[in-house]
Amino acid sequence: MVLQIRLEMPRKFFFQHRKKAEKDKRLKHQKTDSPARSPLVNSLPSTSPLQQICSALTFPSTEWSNQSPADLSKLQICKIPQICGNSSQPLRIVMNLTINADLSWSLFVHEHKVTRAICSSLEEFPTRLDVGSVNNVIHTLDKLKVCAGQPDPSFVMMVSAKKGKILSPDGSVAAQVDNVPVEFGGSNYDSTIRTSKCEMLSKYSKCSVCTKYRANLRTMYHRWNNASTASSSVFINERYMKTPQKIDKINQLRSRAYKAEQAVRILTQKVQKLIAKGEQLDTGFQSDLLAIMHDNQGRVKEAYPEGSFARLFWDEQLKAATSSNSKQIRWHPVLVKWCLNLKLLSSSAYHALRSTGFIKLPSERTLFDYTHYYTNKVGFQEEVNQQLAEEVKRLSLPDSRKFVSLLIDEMKIKEGLVYNKHSGEIMGFTSLGDINDDLLRLEQDSELPKVAKQLLTIMVRGILFHLNFPYAHFASIGATGDVLFPLVWEAIYRLESSEIKVLCVTADGASTNRKFFRMHYDSNDPKSLYKTKNPYALDDRYIYFVADPPHLIKTVRNCWSHSCVNGTRLMQVYHILVCKHCMLILVL
Ligand SMILES: [Zn+2]
Repeated sequence: MVLQIRLEMPRKFFFQHRKKAEKDKRLKHQKTDSPARSPLVNSLPSTSPLQQICSALTFPSTEWSNQSPADLSKLQICKIPQICGNSSQPLRIVMNLTINADLSWSLFVHEHKVTRAICSSLEEFPTRLDVGSVNNVIHTLDKLKVCAGQPDPSFVMMVSAKKGKILSPDGSVAAQVDNVPVEFGGSNYDSTIRTSKCEMLSKYSKCSVCTKYRANLRTMYHRWNNASTASSSVFINERYMKTPQKIDKINQLRSRAYKAEQAVRILTQKVQKLIAKGEQLDTGFQSDLLAIMHDNQGRVKEAYPEGSFARLFWDEQLKAATSSNSKQIRWHPVLVKWCLNLKLLSSSAYHALRSTGFIKLPSERTLFDYTHYYTNKVGFQEEVNQQLAEEVKRLSLPDSRKFVSLLIDEMKIKEGLVYNKHSGEIMGFTSLGDINDDLLRLEQDSELPKVAKQLLTIMVRGILFHLNFPYAHFASIGATGDVLFPLVWEAIYRLESSEIKVLCVTADGASTNRKFFRMHYDSNDPKSLYKTKNPYALDDRYIYFVADPPHLIKTVRNCWSHSCVNGTRLMQVYHILVCKHCMLILVL
């Protein structure tokens, strides 16, 4: 067909057509050799600066193109690399240089804005471009390489596992995954790790910031890789763990917590059992302690003299530790007394002290035998009298010092009846001695005694020596003077029989006591108000009645406090007498 056309075409037209084709070919050839020019260049009048720049543009390669809008409000010069081979990949603008109407410029590299402050390679660029500088800038940009970052797949994988970011200690993003295709070392990578301060453009394949950061990244990767490959130990920080490892760690911790709770529960039960039962020391430990005690026996003897309580205590402890049967130990009376004192101060404290086993002490049953040597009964007891006599005798006092005072006092007690399992008696009824009980029965015309409300106590106190001895007690419902009379004189009789001289009877100023004192008054002898003959004394002695001085002081105080206007007392100074001999204030 072409041949037919050629044949049919006149020679003149053939040559014209050929000339035109050659011209087009030459133009086309010239166009490919020379730098690319914008198609808009020749179509617009060169009036504005942008238009002048646009007309002067020369691109270093075909990758560069002018993508400015038609109205030329700004110039957009882009570098779009040619994709050879794989045509399925989309075109990507690598650089985009925008020149505004005021000739200022901005540069984007892979959608990252790059300024002169960020990139050291752009420092020499002028702030405003003109016809003379624009081509230099474009040519310089063409020579610069886009920073490849750290495109190693291992690094990318690690940072992707950390949600695509690496945070610095202050919480800011230090580096992150940049999903742009980069070329490094002849290989292409789909993404890279780029630092936040990446310069983006450099003369080399990597900017200086990214080059320096590689060491950090490598260290981080090794730590992360070790943590990932190692078993998910509970000691590894969660920051370096993947989610399955975190779940594994939680399970491990839960298991450990459960085991710990179980152990604590078992140990708590064990300790509670031990506290309840106590634990015997094993024989080995016991023998060690004994050996230490024997070794230090000499030192203790040096430190504590014979007869001191510390020495006695040590000897008793050694004796108790050596003894095979604790029931066969015969405790020293002083230690028993000390233990009694402790037990009477606080029974539970003594029990606790003894149950620790740290020191050996007499059992509470042993102490019970001492505290209940005599049956605790109401009324006079011959055993008590003997004990008092022995106690006074042990003091080896001369006759001139064996003077005692009888103290009489009553105290309120709680009413009630108690069954005594040892004697089989019901306790709590009034009991004031045989004479008084018989008289009361006659007066009340009833065989049944009343329930006691008060406890009358007779106590013996030494006047010239130390003695505090509870002598007898009686249950009463308020002893009157005539009830006191036989009781007090029986006490005097018993004491005088035991060679204990009763010098005085002391009681508070209760009406019953004063009545008892007045019962000895002889109207012929005024001095018999406060004294009377002691018929039981071998030597011719008197018994003196003393009102309890503290009670008297209290009475005076009360009288004074009530001696006021509208008061119940009208006490005046002349009512007070001061005894010259004993300096006692007596209220008449
Ligand atoms: Zn970089």
